[in-house]
Parts: sequence; C-alpha cells; structure tokens
Amino acid sequence: DTHLTVADTAVADAVAAELDRQQHQIELIASENIVSRAVLEAQGSVFTNKYAEGYPGKRYYQGCAPSDAVETLAIDRAKALFNCAYANVQPHSGAQANGAVMLALVKPGETILGMSLDAGGHLTHGAAPSMSGKWFNAVQYGVRREDHLIDYDEVERLAVEHKPVLIIAGGSAYPRIIDFARFRAIADKVGAKLLVDMAHFAGLVAAGIHPSPLPHADVVTTTTHKTLRGPRGGMILSNDEALGKKFNSAVFPGMQGGPLMHVIAAKAVAFGEALQPEFKDYAARIVANAQTLAARLKDRGCAVVAGGTDTHLALIDLTPKGITGKDADEALERAGITCNKNGVPFDPLPPTKTSGIRVGSPAGTTRGFGQSEFAAIGDMIADVLDGLAANGEHGNADVEKAVNVRVRALCARFPIYPNA
Ligand code: PLP
Repeated sequence: DTHLTVADTAVADAVAAELDRQQHQIELIASENIVSRAVLEAQGSVFTNKYAEGYPGKRYYQGCAPSDAVETLAIDRAKALFNCAYANVQPHSGAQANGAVMLALVKPGETILGMSLDAGGHLTHGAAPSMSGKWFNAVQYGVRREDHLIDYDEVERLAVEHKPVLIIAGGSAYPRIIDFARFRAIADKVGAKLLVDMAHFAGLVAAGIHPSPLPHADVVTTTTHKTLRGPRGGMILSNDEALGKKFNSAVFPGMQGGPLMHVIAAKAVAFGEALQPEFKDYAARIVANAQTLAARLKDRGCAVVAGGTDTHLALIDLTPKGITGKDADEALERAGITCNKNGVPFDPLPPTKTSGIRVGSPAGTTRGFGQSEFAAIGDMIADVLDGLAANGEHGNADVEKAVNVRVRALCARFPIYPNA
C-alpha cells in the first residue's frame, strides 16, 4: 500500500488506471514523453510546499536557500544545454512562457506575425481564440501548397506590409527544420524582434542533432515536457541579458505568482539527464524512428505532409484513404494506439474532424522501441486505417482487436517503469 492508496482510493485508482493505460498502449502523441523516475521523484517532492516568489538571491519569502540552490542548478544546466547566456525556468507552461515574452515585448494592439494554426502553428502564436490573437493585431503566415514548407517569401511580404513588433517561428505540427537565419533576416529588415518557440524540437536541439535557434533569435521559448523529456512546464532562453531582465519581470510579477519549485527541481533533474552523452543517442533514435514510421505509412498508402520529417513528428494526410482524422484517432485508440487528429495544410475539414493525424516518436523511443518496432507500428496503424476505409466510420472491430493483441505484445517487451 502507498500513502495515496490508503488516504484516497478514488485518486489512487485514477493514477493506477493512468499507469496501466500508459503501460499497455503505444503513445504516439508527439508532444508527450515518459519521464524518468528521478524526474517523478523530484516533482513529487517537498518543494511543492514552498513559496519562493522572486529569483535566486532575491526572494520575497524567508527559507528559500534550498529553492535558490535548485533553481540555480536548473538555470545553469539550461544555459549549458542550450549554450546561452540567460534562462528563466519559472514559466508554468509553454503558453505562460510565450505570454511572458509578449508581455515584455508587445503592447496591446501592436502587431505580431506567427504561423497559423492551420499550417501547424500554436494557439499562442496569434490564433483568434487565444490571448495572443485577442490582445494583439495578429497576422498569420502559412505553408506553401506545393511542398508544405513555410512560405518564407510570404513571411517577408507580410512582415514588410504589416511591420510586426514580434515575429514568431516554431509550431506544433511542422515536421521540417525551420530556416532560422531567414527569419532573422526578415526580422532585421523590418526591425522586429524574433521569437523562436522550439517547444516541440527542444530535445533535438539540446542533443545537438537539430540546428539551434539561439544564435538567430532574440528569445527562445520552450516547453520542458516534449522531446526534452522533463516535467510539464515552460522556459525562456536568450543570449541578450538586458532582454532577460525584462522577461524576468514579465514572468514574475508580470504573469505569475510563486514559482512551482517542485517542477523546477524536476526541470533541473531532466536538464541534468539531457546533458549526459546518452541523450544525444536518444535524440538521434527519435528522428530515425519518426522517419521509419512516416516511411512505412507512406508505403501503406497514406500521404505524408511535407514528404516526410526531419524531427520527431510526422503529419499523416488520410485523404488518399478517404477517412477523417477523427475516425482514425478513435479507431486507433480502440486498438491501443494513441495519437491525435490534426488538420493538414489547406484542410477542407474543420478542426473537429480534420483530414490527418499527427504521430510522434519521443515516448515510444524512451521505452526502447527502435526502427523495426516503429515499422511494425506503421503496419498496425495502416491495418486499422484500412479497416476504416473498408467499413466506414465504425471501422473493423476484428482488425482493431487483432491489432490490440500486437500492441499489447509489443508493450510487454518494452515496459515503462519496470520493477515499479
Ligand atoms: N508552443 C508550442 C509550439 C507547443 O506545441 C505548445 C504545446 O503544445 C505550447 C507552446 C504550449 O505549451 P503548454 O501546453 O505547456 O502551455
């Protein structure tokens, strides 16, 4: 028995059900990962009891020496990992990190230029329902119809026309490497600041297998829980320490109150893990695995947005199979494969249906799946999709059951948190 099972069976049951779910399904949500036990332990530590408003050495509360120590570790490790001069590890999430950067650099009513949600951008980059879309004059760029790559000429044209204060590069469903130098040149041409949101590919940058935006951007934001494999949270990085002062004030007291010291402790642990040589190998396997999965799905009759991937994620266009993202992600969940429906560029279907699914390799790679396992996963997915294509929206229950047997067998060979 644990303290939780004794004190609160209902919550303990939910936690057990979640572990069971993670253990026996294949996680392909590109923004998720499986943290180490050390990260879990730090996040579940007594630091959750502590108020530490302010920054190391300048707190508004007493009793902050251990908090100072752990936050300084997180900051120093983040700076070492990304080879930069400034880091703020306090944002509670990626959205908070982006909000703080906007609070520091943009006034309400001023213009920002970011990638549209439809093309793979994130809500916080100026989408209409988000604060970034409501409080700023948000102009959005997209991708080219012919190759699904960012239309840099369009970015430049829109920048010259609208004179944004801030240009944002980065997204949630963009599978290719972004040309940061081109974005820098466009920002310089119109006197804008450049924010790169590397939330998705931060772990690949940390490992040195993906170009770093830090030499080009005024500021870089990220989440810490995707490819970086830390606790859920956000972070702001920069090489400009004067701007860093503004970001510090924007995070606290601008956007947030007390930092989540338990999460910051877990960030420190995760950054320490990412500094180890094994992490480079992990990141390289993430990309190889995503490429293998995308290639197998292409062989099995799906279209792959942008022709493939340079990163941890691929966007699969189901149009050739005549099925929707919504039907696909539901059928895949029935079979034990978890992913999300996702619009594809120029998608004729609404976001509640979509023509695609987004798949990613970070979590599966953490549990040990290699390229042969990801090829097999591609076949499992394609079998389920073909069941849908042949039978309509309810799919083929026999195929889904048979795939689930294969899913469970694969998961059993690569357990998460073995000997827990
Ligand atoms: N930025 C990008 C590019 C993202 O993909 C996400 C999350 O999916 C975020 C920001 C927001 O992060 P969070 O969910 O931690 O607020």
